[in-house]
Amino acid sequence: MNLNSENSRLYIVRCGEVALKGMNKPYFERVLLERVRNAIACWDNDSHWNGGLMLVRIGGDVPVDDAVRKLSKVFGVATVSPAISVEKDMDAIGEAAAAFVRDLRREEDIRTFKVKAKRADKSFPVQSPEIGAMVGGSILSGVPDIRVDVHEPDLKLFVDVRREAAYIYRDKIKGFGGLPLGTNGKGLILMSGGIDSPVAAFMMAKRGMRIEAIHFHSYPYTSKRAQRKVEDLCRVLAGYMGTITMHVINLLPIQEEIVKNCPEDETTILVRRFMMRIAEEVAKKTKNMMLITGEDLGQVASQTVEALVVTDSVVDMPVMRPLIAMDKVDIMDKAKEIGTYDLSIQPYEDCCTVFLPKHPVTKPKLDRIQKSESALDVEGLVKAAVDSDEIVEIKPSEIV
Ligand code: ATP
Ligand code: MG
Repeated sequence: MNLNSENSRLYIVRCGEVALKGMNKPYFERVLLERVRNAIACWDNDSHWNGGLMLVRIGGDVPVDDAVRKLSKVFGVATVSPAISVEKDMDAIGEAAAAFVRDLRREEDIRTFKVKAKRADKSFPVQSPEIGAMVGGSILSGVPDIRVDVHEPDLKLFVDVRREAAYIYRDKIKGFGGLPLGTNGKGLILMSGGIDSPVAAFMMAKRGMRIEAIHFHSYPYTSKRAQRKVEDLCRVLAGYMGTITMHVINLLPIQEEIVKNCPEDETTILVRRFMMRIAEEVAKKTKNMMLITGEDLGQVASQTVEALVVTDSVVDMPVMRPLIAMDKVDIMDKAKEIGTYDLSIQPYEDCCTVFLPKHPVTKPKLDRIQKSESALDVEGLVKAAVDSDEIVEIKPSEIV
């Protein structure tokens, strides 16, 4: 289908940081365009770069809100504006602008406006301030009971005159920014059903990192429903980053060994060290370059500086903790914004809460922990866990 202004709607998509990428800019732009095309592949669309703007035409009667939502979810997109394009002629631009405002007024009470004009095409004979003034004049004469307010207008209208056409638009709706997915390697998130790890995964993906997940359970002490909750969380995340491969591993045999052979107050830190070791082995096998956790300094007993040092000492791979310096309320706000919060607060048990010691050590000493571990066949336990890896592919839940 050939999309034009009659059978489609136009959206202007702007990238943020991609524009700053110097020599690599063509690469980032190409990947971003591919991600945008993928995100809206369910609709007829024609998307391409035009100078520093991406022009996206979507055919059919796709509601503007749905289109904006999909586009603004693509990492690397800074802002999106529903727009119209018009021939580069001052009369045509003035008329189109007045019609655009009349159209908006059907839905909204707009009494004041301001025009902001930009002339990217310097060969266009009218300069920006005059374009603004002339378009303002057309609106004043073509729209009843409206006046100009340059300080606090109800409507800020943008006119952008470019080489091939002029564009008229209003809102710049903010996207998540960041970098296009796949431009920054692949990392393995240790994914619980809590609030933090989904946010951590989101933050790394927003920087262009592809994400795989690993989840530990203690079935039958933890329920199948608890695992489904984690799958549901991955499904929401997949709406931003495409299908997520999740590795599911039963930690119970290891937990039982720890409980049988090691001091009770060290259970949590010992379990965490096993999680990290297993995750690192799985990451190596699956070409993930880093581990990611949702840890946040000082939040719980296992997240003191001492505990983090003792946990980290079992792995060679870098461990990313994107939430480390965030406050819990800010993490919760982020979880709400990305749509994982309501799922995360559902009350299902996590394997960490099984065999929870009454008084966990908060300042573990590495030599003591190593001594406790010497009672265990660490290598054998890790290998058995890695061999039991069950792989689940989780597709996006969102159908607009
Ligand atoms: P979250 O909200 O992500 O559960 P939390 O604040 O509850 O984090 P912990 O339970 O101590 O903190 O877990 C710290 C991190 O360890 C989690 O963010 C996650 O990365 C990892 N983790 C915890 N439990 C699991 C699990 N069952 N499977 C995989 N990773 C886990
Ligand atoms: Mg947790």
